[in-house]
Amino acid sequence: MEKQNVPELFGSMVFDDRVMRARLSSDVYESLRKTIDENEKLDEEVAQAVAKEMRDWAIEKGATHFTHWFQPLTGVTAEKHDSFISPSPDGGVIMEFSGKELIKGEPDASSFPSGGLRATFEARGYTAWDPTSYAFIKDHTLCIPTAFCSYSGDALDKKTPLLRSMQALDKQAKRILKLFGQEVKYVRTSVGPEQEYFLIDKDMFNARPDLVYTGRTLFGAMPPKGQELDDHYFGVIKPRVTAFMEDLNEELWKLGVLAKTEHNEVAPAQHELAPIFSTTNVATDNNQLMMEIMQKVARKHGMVCLLHEKPFAGVNGSGKHNNWSMATNTGVNLLSPGDTPYENAQFLLFLSAVIQAVDDYQDLLRLSVATAGNDHRLGANEAPPAIISVFLGDELSAILDAIKNDTPYEGAEKVIMKLGVHTLPRFRRDTTDRNRTSPFAFTGNKFEFRSLGSSNSIACANIMLNSAVAESLRQYADILENASDFETELHNLIKDVITKHERILFNGNGYGDEWVKEAVEVRGLSNLKTTPDAMPHLLDKKNMDMLMSHQVFTESELKSRCEIMLENYNKTVNIEAHTMVDMVRKNYLPAIEQYLYSLAHTTSLMKSVSSNVKCNYEISTMERLSELTDYILERVTDLENALDEMKKLDDVVKTSEFIRDDLIPKMEHLRKHVDEAEMLTSEDSWPFPSYGKILFSVY
Ligand code: ADP
Ligand code: MG
Repeated sequence: MEKQNVPELFGSMVFDDRVMRARLSSDVYESLRKTIDENEKLDEEVAQAVAKEMRDWAIEKGATHFTHWFQPLTGVTAEKHDSFISPSPDGGVIMEFSGKELIKGEPDASSFPSGGLRATFEARGYTAWDPTSYAFIKDHTLCIPTAFCSYSGDALDKKTPLLRSMQALDKQAKRILKLFGQEVKYVRTSVGPEQEYFLIDKDMFNARPDLVYTGRTLFGAMPPKGQELDDHYFGVIKPRVTAFMEDLNEELWKLGVLAKTEHNEVAPAQHELAPIFSTTNVATDNNQLMMEIMQKVARKHGMVCLLHEKPFAGVNGSGKHNNWSMATNTGVNLLSPGDTPYENAQFLLFLSAVIQAVDDYQDLLRLSVATAGNDHRLGANEAPPAIISVFLGDELSAILDAIKNDTPYEGAEKVIMKLGVHTLPRFRRDTTDRNRTSPFAFTGNKFEFRSLGSSNSIACANIMLNSAVAESLRQYADILENASDFETELHNLIKDVITKHERILFNGNGYGDEWVKEAVEVRGLSNLKTTPDAMPHLLDKKNMDMLMSHQVFTESELKSRCEIMLENYNKTVNIEAHTMVDMVRKNYLPAIEQYLYSLAHTTSLMKSVSSNVKCNYEISTMERLSELTDYILERVTDLENALDEMKKLDDVVKTSEFIRDDLIPKMEHLRKHVDEAEMLTSEDSWPFPSYGKILFSVY
C-alpha cells in the first residue's frame, strides 16, 4: 500500500470545520457555529446555504446519494439512501439537495423497535439533523448524523436522550462554575472509548453456524492452548492483522475518526483499538462508525471481526472502556486537579459529584450495559464485577479521608485541608496500581467506566452517567447558591458527600469473592448479575424521577426502552437456543453416530480376525460416547420443551426471568455433554472447526 500523507488524509471525507470555514460565507458560517456551540435555532436560509455547499462538496468527492444516518434502538446504525438526482425538463437530471432534506427526513420506520411508542398505523418517525456531529461520506453516500423521533416527539433512538443528557449536565455544571466565578459558554462531556474485538479467518467463521447466527460459539471444547501464557497481550502483531490495521486506520482517518492506539489483547486473536477522545455525541457516532468499518475492512482481508462480548468460552471476552470527563469550551478539564486552592476545591466538588452519582445510581449504570452478551462477562473474573464501585487510588482516597475526618493529610507536608484555602497536596496519578478489576476507575483526569460490552452503543452508558452527575450537581448548586458563606458551605458539602458515599469507594480486588460478600452484606451495594435482574430497575421511581426531572426521558420513553431492552435480551437468547437445537440435531448427533459406527465396525472386524485383540480403546470410547449421545438427546429434548413453554409466556419480564432461570442453565448443560463428546471423537469426524483452529486461524 502506498504511504499516505496522514494530515492530508485525515477527515478528507468529513464536512468538518475546515471545510465549513472554507466553503460557507462568513454569515452562514457564524450562524451555523452558533447553532453548534450554543444550541441556537438554525434558520431556514442558513440550512439552505449549508445544504448547497454540502451537496457540491459531496459530489466533488464522488458521492451520488445522501442519507440521514441514525441510531435506532436496535443498537446498530440505520441508513436509507436517496440519490441526489432530480429530473430536469430536458429529460436529463440535476443533482439536488435542499435545506429541508438536510434538516429533516422521513424514513419508513415501521420495522424499528419502538416499544409501543409509535402506533403501527402511524409508522413514520422523522429524523432531525444533529449539526454538532459532522456529516461524512461513506460508500459514495453523504451521511448526515441525525436524531430519530416519533411525530409525537418521543425519542426512538439513542442519540436524542444522549444529547438531552449532555444538555442537562451542561446546565448544572455552568451553575456550579458560576459560583466559582467562571462564566463559560458550555460544558461538555468527553469520551474516549477503547474498543476490543476478535479477528478470525472467514472460512472458520463460515463453517460455524453458531458464529454466523449468534456472533458467538455455543459449543466448543477448550483448546490445549488458550491465553494462559499471556503471550498474546501486547505481543507482536501478525502480518495479516497489521495489514488490516493499516487499512482500518486509513479508512477511519478519512472519516475523521481519531484512531490512535492499537495492540493485541489478552486472548488469542483479540485486539484493541483506542481513539483519541472527543465530545460524547461525536465519540458515540464515531464508535458506531468504527465498529462498522472494522467489520467491513476485516472482510476485505478475508477475516471476520467479532464484536460479541463473549465469542469463546474459556478465554477473555471483549469490552469497551468508556473514558469520560467534563470540559469547558475553554478547554479546562473539570476532573483535572488544579494548582490553586480554588481550582482544587472546584475539582473536588466535581469529583464528589461523580462519586455521589455512581453511588446513587449504581443500578442505572449497571443496566445501561446490560445485554445478553455482556452477561457472560460481568462477574466472570475477566471483566469488572456486576457490582458497581469506584476506584480512586490510595493517594486521592487518603486526601478524601483527611477532608472527611479533619485530620492532617500525610502527604509531602502535613496539612489539615481547608478547601478553598489550602492547596491540594500534589498527588501522583496512580500508575503503580492500575486496578483493572474496578468497574469505575479514576485515572488521573478522567474516569474509566469499564463495564461496557464490546458491541454496545456507548450512548446508553453515557446517558446515565451524564444524567446522574447532572443530578448531583443540581443538588450542590441548590445548596451553594443559597450559602451565606460559600467557602464554609462548600467545605461542609464535600465532607458530607464523602461521608455519605464512601461505601462506593473501593480500591481492592474486585474479582475476589470476599468483595462480593463485603459489597452486598456490609456496604449494601447492589449486585445485579444479569439483564433480567438489572433492567426492570429502569422503572424504579427514584430513577424515573431523576431522568424525567432533567428532561432526558419522558415516562413513556422509559417504559418503552425497558421493554425493548428486555425484548432484545429475550430474542437473542431465543435465537441462541434454537441454533443449539439445530446444530445438535442436524450435525452433532449424526456426526457422533457416524463415529460410533466406525468404532463398532472396527471392533467387530478386529475381533473376527483375531480372538486375542481386546479393543479396549474402541470399546471404552464407544461406551462413553454412546452414553453421551443419550444424555445429549435428553438435554436437547429438555431444551426444546423449554422453548415451547417459553412461547406461552406473553410478558417480556416473565420471559426474561424464565430465560435466566430455566433456559440458560439448560443450554449450558447441553453444551457440557457435547463438548465432552468432542474430546472423544476424531477430529475428522467432528462437524465444525475446533476452538484451537478458530483462535489460531489468523497468522
Ligand atoms: P490507557 O487507559 O490505555 O492507559 P490513556 O489513559 O492514555 O490510555 O487513554 C485512554 C483513553 O482515554 C483514550 O481514548 C484517551 O483519548 C481517553 N482520554 C484521555 N483524556 C480524556 C478526557 N479528558 N476525557 C475523555 N477521555 C479521555
Ligand atoms: Mg484504559
